[in-house]
Amino acid sequence: MTYYAELSPPPRTIMTPGPVEADPRVLRALSYPILGQFDPAFTELMNDTMGMLRALFRTSNQWAYPVDGTSRSGIEAVLTSLVSPGDRVLIPIYGRFGYLLQEIAERCGADVAVLEKAWGTVFDPEEVIAAIRASRPKLLAMVHGETSTGRLQPLADIGSACREYGVLFVVDAVATIGGVPVETDAWHIDAVIGGTQKCLSVPSGMAPVTYNERAERVLLARKKIERGLQGSVDSPLTGMHDGPAIRSNYLDLSQLQDYWSPARLNHHTEMTSMLYGLREGLRIALAEGLEARFGRHRLNEKALSAGLSAMGVTLYGDPACKLPVVTCVDIPDGIDGESVRSMLLRRFGIEIAGSFGPLKGKIWRIGTMGYSCSQKNVLHLLGAFEAVLTRHGMKLHTGAALQAALDVYENTEV
Ligand SMILES: *Cc1c(COP(=O)(O)O)cnc(C)c1O
Repeated sequence: MTYYAELSPPPRTIMTPGPVEADPRVLRALSYPILGQFDPAFTELMNDTMGMLRALFRTSNQWAYPVDGTSRSGIEAVLTSLVSPGDRVLIPIYGRFGYLLQEIAERCGADVAVLEKAWGTVFDPEEVIAAIRASRPKLLAMVHGETSTGRLQPLADIGSACREYGVLFVVDAVATIGGVPVETDAWHIDAVIGGTQKCLSVPSGMAPVTYNERAERVLLARKKIERGLQGSVDSPLTGMHDGPAIRSNYLDLSQLQDYWSPARLNHHTEMTSMLYGLREGLRIALAEGLEARFGRHRLNEKALSAGLSAMGVTLYGDPACKLPVVTCVDIPDGIDGESVRSMLLRRFGIEIAGSFGPLKGKIWRIGTMGYSCSQKNVLHLLGAFEAVLTRHGMKLHTGAALQAALDVYENTEV
């Protein structure tokens, strides 16, 4: 018989764009006893979670709840529920996750138009607004923080234009929520998808979403009307409102919102342990204070960037639109990026990321997200990175990185 050792994952310092280290209080929350999904003690936790998600998304929307599945399940739930076959959808793309939005919208049968921008930059909002005027889409979807390139897209002006032209504005804020301001209401975003395993520091497995009444109207027009007990597994479908049916059952927001409403119409079985973890992660983020949390992310980014520059490596991309929670570094000519990553992991227990598509083998990506975004981790990484690059034959300003980072920490008021 095969013998399997007791589970014992090695301790790691995770400096990637996700998944990142979870706060120990979140890990503890995951281990509490199971509650039944209609137990009032549990439905109260569901309500707490909705309330905290509204604060996190900075919205007064009624609907703010997690979709069960990783972040892309939230993206797919929003697009599948809002986009009907033949709808015009505009997607400005400036990195890998823009292509994910395009792919999902195409699978929904949309008539998709894309705008593409060179990787490493973002759109001037005016370019997107001109495209809205020209193509008059029903919906515009775009990424807020593009983890593949480490860029942040300003959204406020695009949101205002979408509202003016009656376009539904959908935003992937998976990488930014909890680390960088996401102003759902102030930026006129109709539906936002967040992530758990990035700046919230909760394990991967849920996708918090929020959407307003404009979005809700679209999905209610497509809602199935059932005979008998609505939502029960064996009630036959009798028809639907005028819109075409939502093609997914699991990701149908019109059914999910009934489950999260006071009616608690049964859909799937809510993920008990993940909900505990998310609720605790949200509680921790709001107790820290969102502004303080964003400040902590900016401070560690500043120390990391100063350290890397002092060391003598080059930061990738346009600094004017840098994503504060992901710092990209050019892999110097003649250096094997994967060998550096594996030595960091093997010798120091530190994980950093490579990138995708045109940037594969060209940049390293260092995340400073959530619980992983700490002075200890930044200093640990800078020392280890310098040692590993030196080991790979690079001539660096040895010793300068940690001094530059310490200068930032000592001279910045928090
Ligand atoms: C990580 C990420 C996703 C995908 O999230 P999963 O949880 O892996 O499904 C989508 N969009 C952006 C911008 C991301 O950074």
